[in-house]
Amino acid sequence: MDEDVTNIGLQLPFHKFCPYDGTALECVTDHGRALPHCTTCGYIDYQNPRPAVAVIICNNAGQLLLARRAAEPKKGWWDIPGGFMEPGESAEQSARREITEETGLTLEKLEYLGSLPDVYGPQAVPTINLCFLARVADQTPIAADDAAALAWFDCDHLPAQMAFAHQATMLRWAVGRIKGGES
Ligand SMILES: [Zn+2]
Repeated sequence: MDEDVTNIGLQLPFHKFCPYDGTALECVTDHGRALPHCTTCGYIDYQNPRPAVAVIICNNAGQLLLARRAAEPKKGWWDIPGGFMEPGESAEQSARREITEETGLTLEKLEYLGSLPDVYGPQAVPTINLCFLARVADQTPIAADDAAALAWFDCDHLPAQMAFAHQATMLRWAVGRIKGGES
């Protein structure tokens, strides 16, 4: 129980103290995983990923809408509009809320493309990113909130570098779905 929780061979970061009562966490083995555990309240830091949504928006010309990040981490980098889910939301509700906040657009049909794990920010918080494709006809996006700017990109001229490692795969999924003509 006194194993150093910072040196158990996992790449993900651990809390050092219980978030409920401040007790220093000790290592416990749970289903074969070494996890930080609070001896006061029983809390175990399972390192569950934080769910986030990403929405690739496509216009009538087949272009994709990307956002320039207004804040750290990765401030100024191109990003897929979206963000972290809030308690009580479905993924679809999160997707619609985030897109309205960042672009002013109102989305109707959302097509689920898939999910990818990643990490976020200087603490390398584990995330699970749920990706949707949405098509808009005649709405004009207006950048706000976490988006410093918005731009439409042709599928063949997407940014070479995106803010987060998993996003190139999501863009490939979207382009494949759009060019495949499936709806
Ligand atoms: Zn505790």
